[in-house]
Amino acid sequence: MLLDHLQAKLDAIRAQDLTRFTRIAETGTAPRQTVRGADGVARELTMFCSNDYLGLAAHPAVTAALVEGAQVYGGGSGASPLVSGHSRAHHDVEALLGRWFEPHIPEARAIGFCTGYMANLAVVAALGDADAEIFSETLNHASLIDGTRLAKAKVSRYAHCDVEDLRARLAASTARIKLIVTDAVFSMDGDIAPLPALLQAAEDFDAWLIVDDAHGLGVLGETGVGTLEHFRLRSERLILMGTLGKAAGLAGAFVVAHRTITDYLLQAARNYIFSTASPPAVEHALLTSLALIRGEVGAQRRASLRALQARLRAGIGALLDRHPTLTWKLADSQTPIQPLIVGGNAEVMALAAALEREGLRVPGIRPPTVPKGEARLRITLCATHTEADVDRLLAALEACA
Ligand code: PMP
Repeated sequence: MLLDHLQAKLDAIRAQDLTRFTRIAETGTAPRQTVRGADGVARELTMFCSNDYLGLAAHPAVTAALVEGAQVYGGGSGASPLVSGHSRAHHDVEALLGRWFEPHIPEARAIGFCTGYMANLAVVAALGDADAEIFSETLNHASLIDGTRLAKAKVSRYAHCDVEDLRARLAASTARIKLIVTDAVFSMDGDIAPLPALLQAAEDFDAWLIVDDAHGLGVLGETGVGTLEHFRLRSERLILMGTLGKAAGLAGAFVVAHRTITDYLLQAARNYIFSTASPPAVEHALLTSLALIRGEVGAQRRASLRALQARLRAGIGALLDRHPTLTWKLADSQTPIQPLIVGGNAEVMALAAALEREGLRVPGIRPPTVPKGEARLRITLCATHTEADVDRLLAALEACA
């Protein structure tokens, strides 16, 4: 009975061209990986889909630190942080991140989590108690939405980047604790939330601003601290979640906030308390990758990323000018996430397949991840792409156009 029930659901998903599947990467990290396709054949593909924005996953200093960490600490952490899983490396990463954010958040402390998904569930569910109301941006990442589902708080959704809508909702609220929750960089659109205006709303209505900077950390801001540095924000009301599996090239995440908030998370965040701590070797290697982000390597790679972004945008702009009847639209993004909105599900998947035949992997993103009729190619750039990689993508898009 259960199997029939699930098979009917799978058939319905397939009928809408919405089936998701994994592929096996046999070797390498972005931007070049040998990937085994559905036909069982392994091919080297140039990947325009990795969040390893600075190419640090394969940086020799990072991989050497990972080996060194394994030699010092072994493989897994063996227990949750409060039991025995919290290594010297975990401690040092938290301390370093606390110092990174001190200019932006007074009395900043960081607390580590195994993934960004877990960190978002933790912070939203733990702070969103029955005394709170959560004001959640419509295009927030799934993990923030799931956090609001776990929270006891009332939830109010405000329109995408619409500060006036948010302010009206804050003004009407009688909740004792008000939490605004937003992505800093929207993962399917690449646009940046209007954080200065959101923070002003938080100040005006005695609210707190929870920011998910999964895609800004390492990429935005002069020294790679992320979106708070990009906008030069500073406030006790800022609560930031950052991930370490994207630009930092490894895995894990953290919440950084005024120390009373992180002290409380350590007592109350169930997925911190009841889950095995991340492997200490990963934390040990994070000390290296975080240093690279803020040093010369990070600065150079952020400059390369911006140059590649400009090249791609100019190239697609010219392509759209040459083909005025095409309904494709390049999203207005200042980040390495450069979505090309195509429209239909079957159309975007056919386009992604055509690019893949040219050795280029650009994922098609369909509803429900994005709104109906706005299926898109989600082009993601890494600093380790070459100009020739971008030109190959532009030529392949031209052939499809
Ligand atoms: N927030 C955003 C905006 C994300 O894009 C992601 C990852 N896709 C996450 C949180 C979750 O982070 P992690 O992959 O570390 O679980």
